[in-house]
Amino acid sequence: MIKYTQEIVSGTWSLIVGLAITIKYFFMPVVTLQYPHETLPMTPRYRGHIDLVFDEKLGGTKCIVCGSCQKACPSNCITVAGERPEGAKLKVLTQFTLDFTKCSLCGLCVESCAPGAIDFSKEYNLAGYKNEEFIFDLLKRLEAKKS
Ligand code: SF4
Ligand code: SF4
Repeated sequence: MIKYTQEIVSGTWSLIVGLAITIKYFFMPVVTLQYPHETLPMTPRYRGHIDLVFDEKLGGTKCIVCGSCQKACPSNCITVAGERPEGAKLKVLTQFTLDFTKCSLCGLCVESCAPGAIDFSKEYNLAGYKNEEFIFDLLKRLEAKKS
């Protein structure tokens, strides 16, 4: 009988302690988000995959198709191509592809780009079933930013 009473008392006490913690946290400020319906802005130093920077003044990319980023990449993730329109002095970027399956986010491409035409994106919500889903056409992404 004594043991039975002790179990009731300890069970009731445990319930009270649990409820006290629940009530305490119920009235505390919410620190979690209902992901994926809600998301936080990424921190300034977050490194997502690289992206072409949209230059407001130029209305497009600052890329001069020098190829430095392609050469600097230790994993051969970047393919850059361009062409010089007739009569123009500078090349125009026609292709900028990133194979994100091989990227280690080392940042050598970003550091090697003198005009500052590429930077890390804030993309983190990436998932897929096939490697091809992570071959990014960064020029297309830049065009999408214009519209
Ligand atoms: S971050 Fe590094 S691995 Fe990724 S594309 Fe740039 S140079 Fe290559
Ligand atoms: S992104 Fe920068 S480093 Fe790469 S080709 Fe363009 S200007 Fe050169």
